[in-house]
Amino acid sequence: LPELPEVETVARQLNAAIAGLRVKDLQVLDARLGMLPSELVESSKIACVKRYGKRVVLELIPPRRREPGVWLAVHLRMTGRLIWQAGQGAVEPARSLRAVLALNKGQLGFYDTRRFGTIDITDHKADILPPGLEPLDAAVTWQRLKALAGKSPTPLKAWLLRQDKLTGLGNIYASEACFAARLNPERPVGSLGDEDFKRLNRSIKRILRAAIKHCGTTFSDFQDSTGSVGGYVKYLKVYARAGQPCRTCGTPIEKLVQGQRSTFYCPECQQ
Ligand SMILES: [Zn+2]
Repeated sequence: LPELPEVETVARQLNAAIAGLRVKDLQVLDARLGMLPSELVESSKIACVKRYGKRVVLELIPPRRREPGVWLAVHLRMTGRLIWQAGQGAVEPARSLRAVLALNKGQLGFYDTRRFGTIDITDHKADILPPGLEPLDAAVTWQRLKALAGKSPTPLKAWLLRQDKLTGLGNIYASEACFAARLNPERPVGSLGDEDFKRLNRSIKRILRAAIKHCGTTFSDFQDSTGSVGGYVKYLKVYARAGQPCRTCGTPIEKLVQGQRSTFYCPECQQ
């Protein structure tokens, strides 16, 4: 699943490619995307492409307006990809092609083999704001995390996946953040002390920034807007490394299942 760094990578690349261009129309090829108000995006100008939580959002300036007034939000889910093709040629036809946003200088194709991805179009920005806090926001301090956790008995790793608390962390970066903060993923989040929250907050931010710098992590599905794969995979300390030696202490990395999701950790470093 693409997590925050992968979505940020797509948004940044698309922003560099299509900000300032004008929308001609949106062709929906898959009925499963629902009835989209395509007329809202027609003839609008792309102000920018940004990440909102785990969605790629095109901020659109409607005709005769000067500020963004329409938002087109794409959730990639499992296998969604947004591929930009400059020039006048048609997009690469494929069974997985679900929608095409035609612009004045090229086309943006939404490909999605498993078809779990979604597109939303709205003229109310509040409709697409993420449910939780943005972990890279400077306003997310360790005190804020501590207050958010309260007395919750939820295991730390499972809590980090809750999108209504922090938005954007998934299995990969939640495991990596627990390791970097030297915290046991099964520990109830409400039992962490001040020093634990300080390390956790620093670790989350550092890992997400490093992953963004390396354009995310690719296992099977994720590709960025140019079809390239993420380079962060070689920096992973615990994720998908069960049985391999911890890079810090040499103890074999263990895997446990929490709420049907795999968690990877070092039993020595994360006591
Ligand atoms: Zn270790």
